[in-house]
Amino acid sequence: MPERLGKLGHIGIAVTDIEEAKRLYGEVLGFTLTAEKEMPERGLKVAFLETGNTKIELLEGTTPESAITKFIEKRGTGIHHLSFEVSDIRMVMKELADEGVRLIDQEPRTGAEGHLTAFLHPKSAMGVLLEIEEE
Ligand code: ZN
Repeated sequence: MPERLGKLGHIGIAVTDIEEAKRLYGEVLGFTLTAEKEMPERGLKVAFLETGNTKIELLEGTTPESAITKFIEKRGTGIHHLSFEVSDIRMVMKELADEGVRLIDQEPRTGAEGHLTAFLHPKSAMGVLLEIEEE
């Protein structure tokens, strides 16, 4: 079978204080801050940091309705999702749906880095929230 999901693009981490998290990953752990974005329409502050060929996405919820705020209320801070690169997101979404995988997004949305992304339902992935991102 051809590869459906490519390499791990980033690991999403839910945090309550993105400045403190940036300091930990940046100054203490030595990651390089590569991008930052506020997404008020989704109640999110996002920062990307990299080390070696590994990228993390720090996510802080800025409103009570934000998916990240709700996630932290239920499960605390920590790993929120894994994101894998795909070359044709619409094709992969259709193939996964045909395989019976539940998708949270029926249509791709534009992610923090401007790429098309979609989330698979954790109930279809052993409790792990998986994101696919078109590169
Ligand atoms: Zn992500």
